[in-house]
Amino acid sequence: MSDRDPPNPLEELQKQLQKMINNPNVKVGMAPFSATPPTEEDPASPTDKTPEAAEDRDEALDRVRNFQLKPREVHAYLDRYVIRQDEAKKVLSVAVCDHYNHVRRCIEDPSYAAADFNKANILLLGPTGVGKTYLIKNIAKLIGVPFVKADATKFSETGYVGSDVEDMIRDLNKVASGDGELAQYGIVYIDEIDKIAGYSSGTGGKDVSGRGVQINLLKLMEDTEVNLFSPTDMMAQMQAMMSMGNRRKQSRTLSTKHILFIVSGAFDGLAEDIKKRIDSGSLGFGALGSESAEIDPATYLNRAETRDFIQYGFEPEFIGRIPVRVACSQLNENDLAQILTTSEGSILSQYQRDFEGYGISFDITAEAVQEVAKRASIQETGARGLLTVLETVFRNFKYALPSTAIQSFEVTQETVQDPDETLRQLKDANRHLQRDVHKSDIKRFAQNFRSKHGHELLFSDSAIDSLIDSLPDDDATVYTLLEAHLKDFPHGLAIICRN
Ligand code: ADP
Repeated sequence: MSDRDPPNPLEELQKQLQKMINNPNVKVGMAPFSATPPTEEDPASPTDKTPEAAEDRDEALDRVRNFQLKPREVHAYLDRYVIRQDEAKKVLSVAVCDHYNHVRRCIEDPSYAAADFNKANILLLGPTGVGKTYLIKNIAKLIGVPFVKADATKFSETGYVGSDVEDMIRDLNKVASGDGELAQYGIVYIDEIDKIAGYSSGTGGKDVSGRGVQINLLKLMEDTEVNLFSPTDMMAQMQAMMSMGNRRKQSRTLSTKHILFIVSGAFDGLAEDIKKRIDSGSLGFGALGSESAEIDPATYLNRAETRDFIQYGFEPEFIGRIPVRVACSQLNENDLAQILTTSEGSILSQYQRDFEGYGISFDITAEAVQEVAKRASIQETGARGLLTVLETVFRNFKYALPSTAIQSFEVTQETVQDPDETLRQLKDANRHLQRDVHKSDIKRFAQNFRSKHGHELLFSDSAIDSLIDSLPDDDATVYTLLEAHLKDFPHGLAIICRN
């Protein structure tokens, strides 16, 4: 080799490998190889539960049997996660406590079930992304019961098929891992309920399929026995057969008597209709004043009466059985900022956890939070806008930073306004540390190579230097380079070992 050309480490390695293959005397050490033991012939049935799962189930059932929560406690729990929506929190807390108190008393004394009880089916109104689902999810989490969400449009689009609405109950049973005892106390949340209201005003006619779905939902919400193994669902039929020999006998049906149903929808235009109604009688009690156009639509929606929903296109018997109704408010910029900083389940903390996965942390300034909230609120999709904005801000950071030496950074207002520029500056400021990252990538490659193929790769200092120097640009990683160039190594080494 001439003095002027630095040795190409990859070519060197390949040459060495070729030499070793050709030399039958070469011995290559093999690291102990641990393979996954062959799978058991008869794997555990999917319905068999681990002891932890069984404990979870017993704990969940105990929580229902001993339900003692007070509305204020439920409200306080929701406050930790959900910003604003106080009226909804209050109404939901009461309805949920009533429901689970009733369930507890029925369990304590089955004769109590015979007493007249109007189920507190709930209607949540309000625009998208303001926390309707989030409220219910958190209630289900607090009580420890299974929860499913479905879109009412799913039922109307396909036309009315009897088993369709019942699929929700089967899903609930699946979420409870086939444990009907727990599933019967679960929560079913049906969104977009407003889309199955046939508008009776204007056209004069009604949407027949929407009406059919309302009637069937009504039956479900009351008390009905749902067949858990849908005759049209092959998987369910197979599961039914498999569970026949199971120790724990599974019930074939599930009663909806104690399932809590919550329906929700944006109800576009309804606030306007109610406003008109109120304004037309504005001399009467309860008029909202001439500047009422500025008022949060939830204020009107909270004054909706049964006749407003009938006018909107609901069947009187359907809406009549949903006595608890409450509206959620639109979230303004400050609410969105508050969600980012104070909600326990904030999307920002999720990003923080994602970065922590790579050992990277970040701080966000108050101005940056406000900037994110401002941009999110323009989108008019409630808190969902936060996700869109943060995704744009963090996308390239998430992609690039794990391959750099950067372990912490700050998100400022400028970062939100121009994330790529901040990222560029950050990378520039840390460029001198990049060599160490490449070195640790080489080490990681060798470790992975050893655990995957059983051979130890040793890189000399000069090989490491020239590998790093051969990287085509700043964004290239030495790991990828090694993977591409040493792809034949495992095969070659295997031949040597065999010989
Ligand atoms: P919808 O009202 O359409 O059901 P969601 O409850 O699904 O909206 O909200 C979407 C996400 O936005 C939630 O998972 C939650 O992270 C966040 N979010 C929405 N509203 C709030 C709120 N009021 N407080 C805290 N987070 C919220």
